[in-house]
Amino acid sequence: MDLALLERTLAERGEPAYRGPQVWEWVARGASSFDEMTTLAKPLRAALAAEVPFSTLEVVTEREARDGTVKTLFTTHDGHPVEAVLMRYRDGRRSLCLSSQSGCPLTCTFCATGAMRFGRNLTASEILDQALHFRRREAVNHAVYMGMGEPFLNDDAVLESARRLPGLGITHRRTTISTVGWMPGLRRFVDEVEEPIRLALSLHAADPGVRAELMPVEERYPLADVLAECRRYFELRRRKVFVEYVMLAGVNDSPAAGRCLAAVLEPGVFKVNLIPYNPTGSFEGSSRSAIEAFKRVLERAGIPATVRLTRGRDIDAACGQLASERVVSSS
Ligand code: SAH
Repeated sequence: MDLALLERTLAERGEPAYRGPQVWEWVARGASSFDEMTTLAKPLRAALAAEVPFSTLEVVTEREARDGTVKTLFTTHDGHPVEAVLMRYRDGRRSLCLSSQSGCPLTCTFCATGAMRFGRNLTASEILDQALHFRRREAVNHAVYMGMGEPFLNDDAVLESARRLPGLGITHRRTTISTVGWMPGLRRFVDEVEEPIRLALSLHAADPGVRAELMPVEERYPLADVLAECRRYFELRRRKVFVEYVMLAGVNDSPAAGRCLAAVLEPGVFKVNLIPYNPTGSFEGSSRSAIEAFKRVLERAGIPATVRLTRGRDIDAACGQLASERVVSSS
């Protein structure tokens, strides 16, 4: 829901200041129409229904994977595709993967989103509407800004949306923003964000040459500076930084590359999440044994490491597979 439009509409009708938060509370708890908002007078419900569209996004398609993962393709009012994913785990965890941009201007070579055309930054309302879509269907409790886009290229809207997630049942401690290390946004996050929102860094190669080949952003914001900023986050907030590392056969998965990674990370500050590569074309994923060997190298150096569970691969909903241009143009 366009929350600015909601506020304007309420103000024009001379509604008291508490009305906005009251409507938001209904929305955040999963209401799917103004008509359900029984604490509002009927004429007000009707007026809002006439003037404020319930969502800023329209659903184009929705698919459910065998593992229960749901991927939804939306479109903005001006025709930009946006994808979001609901991951369901056996332990009851319900995690949302949210997009911060339509497409992505960065061109990481292993990521499908980077290959599609960049549209624009999403508004806070457009980010929240992805989450609300799933909230209307079931209770949710985790969110990661790991969908399309680079969150720190759109930090205002990302932070504004993240600050509202607790209303949906997603606490800040269960909210994670993932970045390639876009320094201006990262610096601001470290300096200004006092909420205990978690930070994840897409690292992928400790060697600057290899990293630059995978992630052109390395040329602009070198890893050493980004890691220094992550350490500052830890010093100020006392929360560990998650390191994401996609495992590419013959590129960044050797034991030597593991030692190189361990050498740039401090054990108390970073936790590594190894991501099996989801096919997007250009690379081969590392074998299971290579991933396990890499994990042991890190653990021997005292760096905690886990292997990310792959979800929704059969519907192209897994990490790096969000690229809806294809879907939009064929529908
Ligand atoms: N731009 C931000 C947010 C996107 S997060 C960032 O990069 O951190 C999406 C995560 O999935 C990133 O860690 C990204 O590197 C990873 N990823 C991208 N393509 C992938 C692929 N094909 N297989 C597995 N992980 C991939």
